[in-house]
Amino acid sequence: MEKSVETEFSKGLLQYLNDSPTAFHAVENAAEILRENGFQELRETDEWSLEKGGRYFIVKNRSCMIAFTVGDGTPAEKGFRIIGAHTDSPSLKVKPGACTVTPDGYVKVNVEVYGGAILSTWFDRPLALAGRVMVREGNALKDKLVRIHKPVLMLPNLCIHFHREVNDNCSYNKQTEMLPLLSMKEEGMEGDDYLLCLIEEETGINKADILEHELFLYEYQEGILTGKRSEFISASRIDDLAMVYDGLCALTESKDIGHPYKILAAFDNEEVGSASAQGANSGLLLHILYRICKNLGLTEDAFFRAVASSIFVSADTAHAVHPNYGDKHDPECRPILGGGPVIKYSASQRYSTTAFSAACFMEACDRAGVPWQKFVNRNDIAGGSTIGPAISSLTTIPTVDVGIPILAMHSVREFGAVADNVYTAAAFRSYYEEEG
Ligand code: ZN
Repeated sequence: MEKSVETEFSKGLLQYLNDSPTAFHAVENAAEILRENGFQELRETDEWSLEKGGRYFIVKNRSCMIAFTVGDGTPAEKGFRIIGAHTDSPSLKVKPGACTVTPDGYVKVNVEVYGGAILSTWFDRPLALAGRVMVREGNALKDKLVRIHKPVLMLPNLCIHFHREVNDNCSYNKQTEMLPLLSMKEEGMEGDDYLLCLIEEETGINKADILEHELFLYEYQEGILTGKRSEFISASRIDDLAMVYDGLCALTESKDIGHPYKILAAFDNEEVGSASAQGANSGLLLHILYRICKNLGLTEDAFFRAVASSIFVSADTAHAVHPNYGDKHDPECRPILGGGPVIKYSASQRYSTTAFSAACFMEACDRAGVPWQKFVNRNDIAGGSTIGPAISSLTTIPTVDVGIPILAMHSVREFGAVADNVYTAAAFRSYYEEEG
């Protein structure tokens, strides 16, 4: 692959990762890319009037979005070409009752662990804060995205002198040992004043107007390229914003050609099981498919034919073979960094790939000249799961689980290869561009 192609692609990818510290920001930035490419936002609460040649998207809870194109022909015959990914990442989420002042005068932020984070990676690095707040504006309630892009928080390790076994294993009490330091006690301040004052100072939002918040910590240090040839990417939230970005590139670049009914869905809450209104384990995708079909005048029967003719590519990061832990993988399926997108298999349906859905994705890769790799767990390692099983069981749409291979999954800073994103975006484009 030409170096210049990788360099150009990596700039956009890094910018998207760096600009999207939370699912809310990931959707806000995705919406901006969609608008720049002629996609129009629809509200779920409005009546829709879809037009042939139209490009649309909806946003749910500001943390989930579904974009789609309406082309020629009927979905009853062509089905929908869908790619899905997720917008959330493991993190530390600020609890209600956000601040605790210790008897020694330390002001700590009270957090809970969101998703399966590798806790040790959150220590000793400057942390910033982002999310959304609900504010009162006159008689109306509004939500506003906030981002305090400053290294305001730190979670210091316990020194080795008080904890000689620290290098033998890393085990942390999530209630008592994961609370980051914000400040020292100040006269006239108590409880949540510390956090609310910080938000007021940094965003200009009057703290008296803040009714509620959903705030997450994130690593202040931005993502960068590493490796001898700058072939690797070291950044937060590669899982799964890299797949959202690759999907956005494919959708926007192929918006006027290929399959008439392309869909890109980016769900929230995958890291905690997807069971929410804005998660993959909800009725949202089916609702949108149904509304598209009804808006185009399709009958109930035609809607079910459309669903039966569709394919879903569930795009979530995969496990590359680790250079220091090579025996964690099956001896025959050994995806490596830079080797192309990975197709994931699981007999127990923790991945929903079938021979049929895998073959559809392989065909898309072949047409684009993209290599692919395969992943299956060792029989003695349970492994993870993703949105594929929820989507395929809810919708009955044949689903293939794929993703770029990465290392350090669920670390505050993950590690992948630029080439795999270029390959994956090209494979997605080819998938969308097949007329069906
Ligand atoms: Zn993921």
